[in-house]
Amino acid sequence: KLGRSNMREGFDAMQSRRPVVLITGGSRGIGASVAQLAAARGYDVAITYRSERGAAERVLEACRASGAAALACQGDVAVEADVVRMFDEAEAGLGPLSHVVNNAGVTGRSSPLAEAAAETIRTCIDINVLGAIWVAREAARRLSRKRGAAGGTIVNISSVAASLGSPNEYVWYAASKGAIDSLTIGMARELAGDGIRVNAVSPGMTKTDIHERSSGDVGRMERLRPFIPMNRIGEPEEIAEVVLFLMADGASYITGANLPVSGGRG
Ligand code: NAP
Repeated sequence: KLGRSNMREGFDAMQSRRPVVLITGGSRGIGASVAQLAAARGYDVAITYRSERGAAERVLEACRASGAAALACQGDVAVEADVVRMFDEAEAGLGPLSHVVNNAGVTGRSSPLAEAAAETIRTCIDINVLGAIWVAREAARRLSRKRGAAGGTIVNISSVAASLGSPNEYVWYAASKGAIDSLTIGMARELAGDGIRVNAVSPGMTKTDIHERSSGDVGRMERLRPFIPMNRIGEPEEIAEVVLFLMADGASYITGANLPVSGGRG
């Protein structure tokens, strides 16, 4: 049986535990910025990546330099078993999760739909829709108060593409982000009584590798810049700020929201 002072110590340890966030696709781009800002704001951080181990290591170093405990889990979010294993690894290393950022995503080579290969479309839907749903389901299981956890937040990364439709670029990608918007609304309402807030951030054009490496469209950012009302490309840090806001207690009455961070585009 615990004495009063032991109970007090245990209570204090629980109070002073740093919140733990898992970010899918945290090795590069927006996910890497979210990881580093979260570390700087007092979170311990688990990132997932698919293939860029070196990039993941650099993000971990930056997080640790801010005083966070940080680890990386390798896996493909499109594979259900990988997602379950990555959540297990994160919790084994850092303790129970309190926040999940559902960020990993790809576009596939840009083209009109009529010219798109089946593999391009299938890969995008597998990662962006199925993968995001596996991650969301695992998050719901692990944060749930009804299941004995402490509650928390989920932030889904959508895109202004969901409303723009991305004609002649990747309508399948736009459709995949439309699915994220529905997922956000449904999960927010399903989990509101379970201590879990679920919101989305919809970035506009943001300076990451996705444009050249995933869509293969070199020069896309510069070509489309004049169509952005603020006439500039967003920085990943500007997306991360809004993700961190939605995770924080200051957003305690916000669930089911979808915030565009797009310089006015969309
Ligand atoms: P990015 O720079 O290309 O980074 C993608 C990240 O996702 C990397 O960490 C990558 O891991 C990981 N990833 C990709 N496929 C994966 C898979 N199957 N399993 C696990 N991890 C995987 O992309 P980003 O621009 O930061 O995009 C992040 C999110 O923001 C995406 O959902 C994207 O749709 C959304 N978004 C981006 C923009 C934009 O303009 N950049 C605009 C709107 C929405 P590796 O490093 O191992 O490859």
